[in-house]
Amino acid sequence: MSHSFDPAAATAAYLAQLPPEAHLKAQHYTQGGHWLLLWGFLVSVAASWIIIRSGILTRLQAGVERGKARPFLASLMVAAVFVGLSWALELPWSVYADWWRPKQYGLTSQAFGGWFGENLLSTAISVVLTALFLALLYLLIRRARRIWWLWAGGLTAVFVVFGMLLSPIYIEPLFNKYTPAPPGAVRDEVVAMARSVNIPSDKIFVYNGSKQSNAYTANVSGLGGSARVAMSDVMFAKGADIAEVRGVVGHEMGHYAHQHNLWITGAFSLLAVIAFLIVDRVFPWFARALGAKGVTGIADPAGLPVLAVIMAVLNLLGTPLVNALVRTAESDADRYSLTHFNEPDGLSKALVKTIEYRAATPGKLEEALFYDHPAVGVRIRRAMDWKATHPK
Ligand SMILES: [Zn+2]
Repeated sequence: MSHSFDPAAATAAYLAQLPPEAHLKAQHYTQGGHWLLLWGFLVSVAASWIIIRSGILTRLQAGVERGKARPFLASLMVAAVFVGLSWALELPWSVYADWWRPKQYGLTSQAFGGWFGENLLSTAISVVLTALFLALLYLLIRRARRIWWLWAGGLTAVFVVFGMLLSPIYIEPLFNKYTPAPPGAVRDEVVAMARSVNIPSDKIFVYNGSKQSNAYTANVSGLGGSARVAMSDVMFAKGADIAEVRGVVGHEMGHYAHQHNLWITGAFSLLAVIAFLIVDRVFPWFARALGAKGVTGIADPAGLPVLAVIMAVLNLLGTPLVNALVRTAESDADRYSLTHFNEPDGLSKALVKTIEYRAATPGKLEEALFYDHPAVGVRIRRAMDWKATHPK
């Protein structure tokens, strides 16, 4: 009797592991999330507009100039105040979008206090780093007047690369506890996998990701020597089996081995150059439209909210492009996992667990515009197609 494996039926069987109600709920969560992009954009524009109309940055800039502060320090102060004020004005929205809503869908178990404490901490870090970035940006605008936007792309690349290098060491430990994976079958397997593809195998961690999110996830972060594999404890709480661990960690190792973060940084910096060039050209128009009185031009740090509005517009319009970039890397990481570790069922089992926060079968257009990972339905189908042609 001949036995043939049907990839389409196998995919449908995986998707059917979740009841229809669960798929429907995931769809509401995901599609509501698409709208959040638009509302979040409007909220940030409104916050910038309020700051412009208050005239607070113009007064601050005039004050520090009278006080003969060096231009770099002056822009640093104005930028820090702007980032802090924007945070405060957007806080109710952040509470709704980032805590209350995922909580309603059972996607986080974090209490408000814990969430808010982390929000304060990441805001403090962001005030310092963003203000530094912006002060350097204004330095470039003053010094390289005509081609500042080109230099600004380079500045973006430097910040992103330093962020990737330093974040596993200095930032991530502020939010989660990273402990070496306990000895046992999972650890042995991951070490063996890392060795087989020449990834540093001495840094395999488990972190308490369940604190913030119930998402089933792992990551390889850092660059070169600072790279490490980190698995959320959710992977263990939900009863990870070895095939799943191999499928998921193999995917993460694919990101590392193919240096996706460097490619994406490169592409992102290129997009940043284009974005800053557009900012340079449309700034006067936006400044007038927003009624930014007293802002002398693009080199004036008091015009920061105008710059922020333009960036928010470009960010919204550029979302599909950035999503397409990231999706390409995600597909490549799946392919890497299948090619090197051949766990189509392990990967699919793990993917089913991500459906609750990313609906499995969006329309083609919806996926193209809004999905930063290929749809789970598509990913499982690819894994099953692989299985059909690569029996163990
Ligand atoms: Zn990935």
